[in-house]
Amino acid sequence: MKVQDAADDARSVDAVPGCPLCDGTGGVQVWRDARCRVVLAPEPFAGFCRVAWNRHVKEMTDLAPDDRAHLMRVVFATEAALRTLLSPHKMNIASLGNLVPHVHWHVIPRFADDSHFPQPVWGERQRDARPAALPAGFLAALATRLAAELGASA
Ligand SMILES: [Zn+2]
Repeated sequence: MKVQDAADDARSVDAVPGCPLCDGTGGVQVWRDARCRVVLAPEPFAGFCRVAWNRHVKEMTDLAPDDRAHLMRVVFATEAALRTLLSPHKMNIASLGNLVPHVHWHVIPRFADDSHFPQPVWGERQRDARPAALPAGFLAALATRLAAELGASA
């Protein structure tokens, strides 16, 4: 298993200075290939992952159809792995990019007692609640499931 939280080879020739997803991985990397990566995001929600395109691309339709399909396959593999590992009440999947216009998808397990449910994680806080603790070995288990579905992490 390869878990990285440094930018290292995430940089590409068309990186945009100041873009957080060009300057770094965006979290603890759990899987990557030549085109995209999955990270555990530093957010106050248990298991909040992001799938980011490695190169700086603004919109989904800037990607070639095959690349677009590949990215969604990784998003759905991430959703499936998180469902299996965390048994959330609901999964939220979103692509906004208003603040960071570099193609990425949020893949967020939601729990009925999380701080914002049923609002979006960006919506109004509903209650005082800390993120649920992740099960022991969560990162390794997530990496293993993604590698089994998508191929070995590069
Ligand atoms: Zn970027």
